[in-house]
Amino acid sequence: VKTIYSFAEGKAEWKELLGGKGANLAEMTRVGLPVPPGFTITTEACRRFFAEGERLPEQVARELREALDALQGQTGKVLGNPDAPLLLSVRSGAVHSMPGMMDTILNLGLNDDTVEGLAKQTGNPRFAYDCYRRLIQMFGNVVLGLDHFHFEQIMERHKQAAGLRLDTELSAKHLQAIIEEYQGFILEKSKRPFPQNPLEQLRQAVEAVFLSWNNARARVYRKIHRIPDDLGTAVNVQAMVFGNRGNDSGTGVAFTRNPATGEQKLYGEFLLNAQGEDVVAGIRTPRPIGELAESMTEVYEELMMFAKRLELHYKDMQDIEFTVEQGKLYILQTRNGKRTAQAAVKIAVDLVNENVITREEALTRIEPEMIERLLHRQFAELGERKPWVKGLPASPGAATGRIVFSADDAERWAKAGEAVILVRPETTPDDIHGILAAKGILTSRGGMTSHAAVVARGMGKACICGCEELRIDGKRKQVSAAGQTLHEGDRISIDGGTGMVYLGELPLIEPMLSAECEELLAWADEVRRLQVRTNADTPEDAKKARAFGAEGIGLCRTEHMFMDAGRLPVMQKMIMAETLAERKEALEELLPMQKEDFVGLFRAMEGLPVTIRLLDPPLHEFVPDLEELVVSQAKRESMGDMDPQQRKQQEQWIKKVRALSEANPMLGHRGCRLALTYPEIAEMQVEAIGLAAAECLSQGIRVQVEIMVPLVGHVNELKRLRQIIEGVLARYEAPNGSSIAFRVGTMIEVPRAALTADEIAAEADFFSFGTNDLTQMTFGYSRDDAEGKFLHAYVEEKILPENPFMVLDRDGVGKLIRWAAEQGRKTNPQLKLGICGEHGGEQKSIQFCHEVGLDYVSCSPYRVPLARLAAAQAEI
Ligand code: PEP
Ligand code: MG
Repeated sequence: VKTIYSFAEGKAEWKELLGGKGANLAEMTRVGLPVPPGFTITTEACRRFFAEGERLPEQVARELREALDALQGQTGKVLGNPDAPLLLSVRSGAVHSMPGMMDTILNLGLNDDTVEGLAKQTGNPRFAYDCYRRLIQMFGNVVLGLDHFHFEQIMERHKQAAGLRLDTELSAKHLQAIIEEYQGFILEKSKRPFPQNPLEQLRQAVEAVFLSWNNARARVYRKIHRIPDDLGTAVNVQAMVFGNRGNDSGTGVAFTRNPATGEQKLYGEFLLNAQGEDVVAGIRTPRPIGELAESMTEVYEELMMFAKRLELHYKDMQDIEFTVEQGKLYILQTRNGKRTAQAAVKIAVDLVNENVITREEALTRIEPEMIERLLHRQFAELGERKPWVKGLPASPGAATGRIVFSADDAERWAKAGEAVILVRPETTPDDIHGILAAKGILTSRGGMTSHAAVVARGMGKACICGCEELRIDGKRKQVSAAGQTLHEGDRISIDGGTGMVYLGELPLIEPMLSAECEELLAWADEVRRLQVRTNADTPEDAKKARAFGAEGIGLCRTEHMFMDAGRLPVMQKMIMAETLAERKEALEELLPMQKEDFVGLFRAMEGLPVTIRLLDPPLHEFVPDLEELVVSQAKRESMGDMDPQQRKQQEQWIKKVRALSEANPMLGHRGCRLALTYPEIAEMQVEAIGLAAAECLSQGIRVQVEIMVPLVGHVNELKRLRQIIEGVLARYEAPNGSSIAFRVGTMIEVPRAALTADEIAAEADFFSFGTNDLTQMTFGYSRDDAEGKFLHAYVEEKILPENPFMVLDRDGVGKLIRWAAEQGRKTNPQLKLGICGEHGGEQKSIQFCHEVGLDYVSCSPYRVPLARLAAAQAEI
């Protein structure tokens, strides 16, 4: 097999062999674009180079001479011939694009003789010497391993001596002197001269590019992007064209559509009389491409035509590098252009409407996370700005505001019209009003499924968790990190999508679901089998989710309803009750409020299913922290400002809170265990559901009630609670006298429930996999602590492939889900299956849910569009 192919011989499909760049150059040559001629040395040659002890195999050396002969024939120029010197570029080109990671040499073929020839031929000695200078510098760096810095220093000295500021001000004479010094420097440092024989230059350059596959940069890049280390790189050898030959020459970059907005209009920049490096180095500011239409009308029109052709050929927006040499346009490279989320959606939809790609192709081209990014506020432009500290990107979106250290302060400041960022070591359900009032949340502890993260995602608020560098002093209302101390009221900006915290206020842009995005998601709806519901606790969230396309509520966490400032005292009264009668009295007070909550949800969902979960968390979450109580008691005692009545009250609180406290509350008295030991709480909630349903039905609002029991591990738990639920609901009826239709189901979030799903399914109309707890209990990792403590390191060290609280663990937790789904359906073929853990809004996990045949996923409102797309992709 050959190891070298001319661009005219290659094919786009040979990407593995020719690398991405080589395959594209061949493809462009094949379709007749003006590509400077050249050839590609294959990745196979590179692998053999390494296999033979980093030596160019004899076959490759021979074919290299042959390819060069052919190229000389084609161009009418000869390597090393001063009368018609052939000059070459030698570039790496791996299968997976690794921008800037490997090496390139330009202007190869120049030596002390050919540079004179080039000067004479072009009538531009300065140009010729500048090319030669660049070659020696690149060769010294890439082949001989000498740092650029030394060369820059030499040049700097010459500029200073001549009193010049810019490289471009150096004359031919100056450049000649620099070239001499460069060559002397190379001889001195590397003990071998800069090779005057161009063939020798070429051989060494090819070897150096091969070797650059293994440089430190490239290795790190491959590690990050999980590119195998044994692929090797191809090398592209191409005749040089020069954009720096005068004002009829130039170089530039063009996108076939605007990469920021997706607008269908050629977009890009160019520089007259320049080489590509000048653009990259930022020495001169490029001009907008539209101006090319005026300075070189024909070139511009030709470029437009090629752009169109390339886009149709690759069926995607292209990023094209071009050079104009003395009025003639050359295309040097094309690739699918990078773009923003907004542009990606617009381009995909436009391409469908232009009949270039199919709807299914468009759907697979958009990363579901891109859709989520579109729904959150973003910073306008970050530029060079460095973050202050970094935490876990817990809930995407950008927020900026003044920092406060307590939920109450957040609420007060927000009421006064201030945008605030709530900064806490962690948040608890007591902080909910503060979270609601804040624009964003920043915590120093807790992971991606911590309270703050879950709540913030639910509300579509920016949140960064587990920012362990922060030293938060809530009492003195200050926070410090990285040698900076901020006080209450200071301004920061947080990006919940990246986990970056910035000092000061950054400008924001408002999000919008564009018309194109709506169109794309409508196509997704036609394709997908999985239904998409939402996790929502308030009518506002429910409405938002419906606007994003939710087809029901898959989880209403009723505990959030009791956190409201007006209700917490009643809830606490219920918890502190000494007798059943006292507790019932408090529950009576909660009943009408709870009923109103459900009426609101039923109304918002207009007949779509609403899954209401009975109270889940342990009761101590609703009362003040024990430590705080004891401390405040001691303080007030010492100040003597407590009357006996107050003291008694306070002591009772402490006693009660102590009695409620548990060593492992997440494994403790919560979920159905609470409902079975305090059935009156569950009864009140079900009564509220019955009242709300009857009221809605009497007003002509359809309702689909699903009551969900949390934390079931044994079938008897569900059996008992089902009886209670049925007993209560039997007391309510629809206006026509018929009973209220409802379904009773359970969360599957305790491993034993999954293992005994066949038994549990006999008592359940539906299962909803609570993968937050199921992951916690299957791994035995605390969902609130694991990330900051060790999970982060586990993922970093590749002990775990992913964070299992973010991406569902197929091999472990997934096995339980698969088993429970199969066993459950065996007992009860009508059983509905869904998921409401955080994984219900994550792409790979949604794919898994599709594979195991769930009926729906449920996720926070802002993830609903993402889930619609991911569900469609799972089907395609
Ligand atoms: C779960 O455990 O996955 C779940 C949805 O319930 P919560 O997060 O409220 O514990
Ligand atoms: Mg749970």
